[in-house]
Amino acid sequence: MPKTIIEPFRIKAVEPIRLTTAEQRRELLEAARLNVFKLHADDVLIDLLTDSGTGAMSANQWAAMMQGDESYAGAQSFFRLEKVIQRITGYPFFIPTHQGRAAERILFSVATKPGDVIPNNTHFDTTRANLEYGQAVAVDLVIPEGLQPQNTHPFKGNIDLERVEDLLKRDADRIPFGMITITNNSGGGQPVSLENIRAYSELLKRYDKPLILDVCRFAENAMFIKLREPGMENRTIESIVHEMFSYADGCTMSAKKDGMVNIGGFIALRDERWVEAARNLLILTEGFPTYGGLAGRDLDALAVGLEEVMQEDYLRYRLRTAEYLGQRLQETGIAIVQPPGGHAVYLDAKDFLPHLPKEQYPAWSLCNALYLQGGIRGVEIGSVMFGKRLDDGTETYHSMELVRLAFPRRVYTQSHFDYVAEVLCELKQNAKSVRGVRITKQTRFLRHFTAECDWA
Ligand SMILES: *Cc1c(COP(=O)(O)O)cnc(C)c1O
Repeated sequence: MPKTIIEPFRIKAVEPIRLTTAEQRRELLEAARLNVFKLHADDVLIDLLTDSGTGAMSANQWAAMMQGDESYAGAQSFFRLEKVIQRITGYPFFIPTHQGRAAERILFSVATKPGDVIPNNTHFDTTRANLEYGQAVAVDLVIPEGLQPQNTHPFKGNIDLERVEDLLKRDADRIPFGMITITNNSGGGQPVSLENIRAYSELLKRYDKPLILDVCRFAENAMFIKLREPGMENRTIESIVHEMFSYADGCTMSAKKDGMVNIGGFIALRDERWVEAARNLLILTEGFPTYGGLAGRDLDALAVGLEEVMQEDYLRYRLRTAEYLGQRLQETGIAIVQPPGGHAVYLDAKDFLPHLPKEQYPAWSLCNALYLQGGIRGVEIGSVMFGKRLDDGTETYHSMELVRLAFPRRVYTQSHFDYVAEVLCELKQNAKSVRGVRITKQTRFLRHFTAECDWA
């Protein structure tokens, strides 16, 4: 069998992308106050800002959209999607929402109270924010390997069961349920093993606590299990997915990831306990329970997307993309977080730009340099995102300075990634000339979205 893993699709509709000159990019970036979030998307050649809602739908999904039933109540689209979700998850109750954070907000509103404690491998930022909004405490308990960038543990997203048990012994009364995020987005898109989910579920059961999965990338996680977990190599993705869900009692999902759609999300639950309250809240803030803030056509596109995402040739190509770019970068001596996750490659900016002190935001500067060099947009995961300027004018800094290159699903081909590797390689040779930045204007919260900068 040939070794080249190809994109398992051909292209039916194209969207032109435009290469600007270096001079234009300098002007555009300076007009954007050295913040790539402020660029117009059509001034970006390869956009690796996020894999969320940026994927391409298939011809079958577009066809399904024409079947969308836009009835306010009881639309056929709802029942078609419900059937798919019931089959995949094994859970009878399904509640559509407009995206993942709405699912979180609704579930947490009905299932947590102030002072509750929720363990997770790593809470995604909207998950943490929605829990904290309800005055619950979000506790991150990923295994120690998950925090070591160069560690090549195959399941760096696993939760540390000993620490979960300590928490349960100490605080069981305050824990309404446990969560686990598959794959672990905030931990580099690292997978969780089936063994870890099963053991976590058994541990929670001993304390009579349900398990809720954050399943934004359930199919990518299942493919990692097939490729890396002993004894799993001959199983179908669907059977691995089924087993993952069988250990849990419910899930929240952002369909903008492995739902293969541009908008959507849902809650699915095994028993009735939270369903009625969640549906009542849904009516208040999202819409009637059979559409939940989405159009009927969105539900139909998702029903098809959930089937397509579990196709093995797609997943093989998907995970290979990150691995391929990771290998190309390593060959040129560019340090990345190991091993590459499912949806992104993370560059280590401290290693790339050793001449820049943390006060000049190396990862932010690398992001800017990547745009200037080749029109590529990544996102800073460093001290602009996680640091803070305190009232006395001093700064706090993040432990790591990373640039995330996230891959939209089915959008770019291998030559696009060859181009990304080439641009990074050129940039590496001129790394010394990359200039740092200082922040000239910022907000108190989530400053990275709107910060304005100048050259340091
Ligand atoms: C994206 C994401 C969410 C939130 O979903 P949105 O659709 O962006 O609201 C929650 N958890 C994880 C792991 C995610 O990746």
